[in-house]
Amino acid sequence: METRIRQIDKNRIDENIIEEAAEILQNGGLVAFPTETVYGLGADALQEEAARKTYAAKGRPSDNPLIVHIADYEDLRKIAVNIPAETDMLAAHFWPGPLTMIFEKSPAVPYGTTGGLDTVAVRMPVDPVAAALIRAAGGFVSAPSANTSGRPSPTTAEHVAEDLNGKIDMILDGGPVDIGLESTILDMTVSPPMILRPGAITAEMFEEVIGPVDVDQTLLSADSVQAPKAPGMKYRHYAPKARLFIVEGDLREEILAIRQLSYAAHRKGKEVGIIATAETLPFYNHGIVKSTGSRENEKTIAKGLYGVLREFDEENVDTIYSESFAAQGIGKAIMNRLEKAAGHQTIPAADIVRRQKYRRILFVSSTDSARGPVAAELLRNRNLKQEYVIGSAGMVVLFPEPANQKAEAIMKSAGMSLEGHSSRQFDREDIQEDSLVLAVDGTIKEKLISEYGQINNLYTLNEFAEDDTEIPDPYGQPLPAYGECFEVLKKLVQKLADRLDSLAEGEI
Ligand code: AMP
Ligand code: MG
Repeated sequence: METRIRQIDKNRIDENIIEEAAEILQNGGLVAFPTETVYGLGADALQEEAARKTYAAKGRPSDNPLIVHIADYEDLRKIAVNIPAETDMLAAHFWPGPLTMIFEKSPAVPYGTTGGLDTVAVRMPVDPVAAALIRAAGGFVSAPSANTSGRPSPTTAEHVAEDLNGKIDMILDGGPVDIGLESTILDMTVSPPMILRPGAITAEMFEEVIGPVDVDQTLLSADSVQAPKAPGMKYRHYAPKARLFIVEGDLREEILAIRQLSYAAHRKGKEVGIIATAETLPFYNHGIVKSTGSRENEKTIAKGLYGVLREFDEENVDTIYSESFAAQGIGKAIMNRLEKAAGHQTIPAADIVRRQKYRRILFVSSTDSARGPVAAELLRNRNLKQEYVIGSAGMVVLFPEPANQKAEAIMKSAGMSLEGHSSRQFDREDIQEDSLVLAVDGTIKEKLISEYGQINNLYTLNEFAEDDTEIPDPYGQPLPAYGECFEVLKKLVQKLADRLDSLAEGEI
């Protein structure tokens, strides 16, 4: 079937396009349309045959009921019965909007639409294109998310086309959606009402209007043996092609852990995917990193999440690590979708972080112009099991200078270079819990102690490398002295690298 794609501007709705789409629906066809949550795959909710087509196009199990979308509150009474009293208040606050309520169904709603249930899920979307289409099509449009079952829900018309082009009659392209996560589902057939799926409308928001609501316990724990109350929640929805892991901890730990994991993969010649945010993007230097949005406004993360998951399906990665997000407000819905996408696979960030003792290695010499920078560059050239920020500093550096020319000549002859090096003074800031400070000789070590007091991880290079060879100071001597010093440093740095690798307990 040829899928007609029509652009539509929600601020200036073209009635001809709405008519064309509504006619398709009335004839039992399928039209994807924008809503504020995600794109919906619309069908006439009162035609059993149309529901069957919906399931076929999505490849969705037919016991997974559809949500019926209405445009006018009065219409609720035509499809639902025994509507509880709180409904008016909830509708007044949250409709039109990203809230789906479940009621006992009226006989008007076919079992095909409700997946065989005696209840019906109803939502009144705020998107003006959706509202216009629903009205023009007769008032009742069933619409699950317009994706292939098992893929992330579509937040743009392009996503819909990726999945359903050729399988449905029309796509109304109204641009990217606002929210990006599916509606909150609230079961009104129980008292107090119960949240079956978290969304942009949160438990706290309900509480302000009608008092406390319940939350389906299966949403709270991964290992619940009970089936969730919304039939659709039992399927592993939103699954990316790659294995997705959520790295959980405080943000700093998450970043460090993901850095370690992505470095370990990179070292094996593999690139992983990383789900990050605008704020954390700059901290990653390996892997394919994508930002879902900004931590300053979690709504942007909700909006970007599914698009990022889809983008990763186009990338050649078999593992994705995601940061986690605050479990409050919309963060709850974000984490719920992310956990489903990950099949609840999480990695405690602290467990990974703990495996790496040092993250910075600093070589300290007197002027930071020869031995220190040479050692640092030699170490950077080792393919270490873990990633370190490797640098050098001097005890007396009055102003920044390039590396000693003889040291540079020796490095060049060994196929390396100190180009770009600029000497700098050792600083109290260089003493950090995770930094290993290596003095090039005993005198420097003593000076460090006398100036800064006890430093936790301070050694001479040969101490730490467990080798007695002293590093000669070639300062002021001819080139061969620099060559000899280089050979000693090379041997010690190799031992240092072995020692560091042996500290890197186990492979990640
Ligand atoms: P989707 O339209 O893809 O967002 O999926 C609709 C969601 O609503 C699925 O998780 C369904 O299981 C849920 N749902 C629809 N109707 C009912 C109902 N009558 N009772 C419980 N959950 C429902
Ligand atoms: Mg869906």
